[in-house]
Amino acid sequence: MQKLRRIYSFLLILAGLIIIVSGIIRFPTQDDPLTLFLLLVLAIAVQSTMTPLVNEAVTVSVSGAISFAAIGLYDPVSAATIAGIAELGLWAAFILTRRRRQKKNWRLELERLGVNVGIHSVSVLTAGFVFYLIQNWLGVNTFLSKTLPWFIGAVVADQVNFWLLAGIVYLANGVKPIEIWRQNRWAVPMNILVLAIGGGLIFLAVSQFGLLGLAIFILPIVLSAYTFRLTVNNTKKQMETLEDQVAARTHALADANEKLEELHKEKNAFLAVLTHDMRTPLTSIKGYASILRDRELPRNQQEKIARVILHSQDTLLDIVNNILELEQLESGKAPILLESTNFDLALLTKVSADSLKAQAVEKRISLEYDTVPSPVMITADMNKIQRVILNLISNAIKYTPENGRVQVRAYANGRNALVEVQDTGYGIPEDELPTIFDRYSRVQGHRHLAIGTGLGLAIVKSLVDAHNGEITVASQENEGSTFTVKLPLIQS
Ligand code: ADP
Repeated sequence: MQKLRRIYSFLLILAGLIIIVSGIIRFPTQDDPLTLFLLLVLAIAVQSTMTPLVNEAVTVSVSGAISFAAIGLYDPVSAATIAGIAELGLWAAFILTRRRRQKKNWRLELERLGVNVGIHSVSVLTAGFVFYLIQNWLGVNTFLSKTLPWFIGAVVADQVNFWLLAGIVYLANGVKPIEIWRQNRWAVPMNILVLAIGGGLIFLAVSQFGLLGLAIFILPIVLSAYTFRLTVNNTKKQMETLEDQVAARTHALADANEKLEELHKEKNAFLAVLTHDMRTPLTSIKGYASILRDRELPRNQQEKIARVILHSQDTLLDIVNNILELEQLESGKAPILLESTNFDLALLTKVSADSLKAQAVEKRISLEYDTVPSPVMITADMNKIQRVILNLISNAIKYTPENGRVQVRAYANGRNALVEVQDTGYGIPEDELPTIFDRYSRVQGHRHLAIGTGLGLAIVKSLVDAHNGEITVASQENEGSTFTVKLPLIQS
């Protein structure tokens, strides 16, 4: 493939050279060498108006129209020479401007230049021959003979140019010519129009008015080509900005989606609380209330049932209160108000543990408090910290099977005061640990073990956060968990 490419390039370069050299040799013998020379200079100058469309492969260039006019004004070889040399001029400018920025492979650049010169001159030469063939066939002075050759010539020039280019792209990169054609076919009519109308008009102007015609016609054509180039570049820039905006919006949308998914999860968790955890006490209230209504029961049994109903109602009230409280804590409207005092965290922990002793005994769980020799003084809202400790200890009792053990301790460590609640309970699976402090988050396997809302730990975390503290958990399934609260110690 690479060998074929080299042969193909070599043939194109050779063709380009032969055309240019023979064009230059003929130059002095031309009718009006000055105009031809001016056409050549103009073609080089306006080559810079070349407008890249979509990618570098397809361009619309006014210099093509100038060389095309030379077919009618002079002959195919001179026209092809202009096309080839104009290409040389552009590449020289291109290479000079790039040179400062990057080192490049000179051989490859030179080869590309040669190939481009070859492609342009060969396509204009072929178009020129076709032009005269048709003109001879139609007779010189008919309307058709003055128009049709320009259009057919333009089609030939455009197509020869395109397929020669597609050939080198295929040999160099393996992109199928039909693919390149499919991507760029929309540019074909534009190119043909520029060549046919532009070339035809320049021909008309120069053959009627000589150099003046050239001046009158070239300027507007160059200016409109330049405007066109600016428009294309601007549109490209706008498209890029648009692409950036689309990317940013897509990003924002992805974020929103993530948030939505989170909310969806939370909604499901909330529904789980409603359908499972609130339903259980409600069902029991309903059942016992029906018994009270339908049966004649002795007074002491009535009292027992009433107690169960009241207990269920308390559970419900707890759940509702928790939901409301967390809403308030996390609504973010106002920071959590702290009524701070100085107190001994060790003492508060002991008192809290003592108050839950009965609950532990009922479950035959040993609740132990490890005493520390000296007070652990902190500045904090005592009620709120007590809620934190009570919540952690009652969770430990709730999620530890009978005959288990719960150990509670408070101590100072460096600049921090710590409370630890350690149990020998069910533990929390590793994959659920990261979300355990989220609202409504409950370990799936715990739902049938104890009633809960999954709100307690979320409330605990909000309260600890409000004190600039930190809460962490270490847990092993079926072995137990340790919750640790860290709060800043009073510095003495
Ligand atoms: P609730 O106890 O009302 O479900 P929490 O927010 O207090 O809500 O706890 C969330 C979940 O964390 C509980 O449902 C339970 O699965 C798990 N959990 C909390 N504390 C413990 C613990 N000490 N041992 C094992 N799992 C626990």
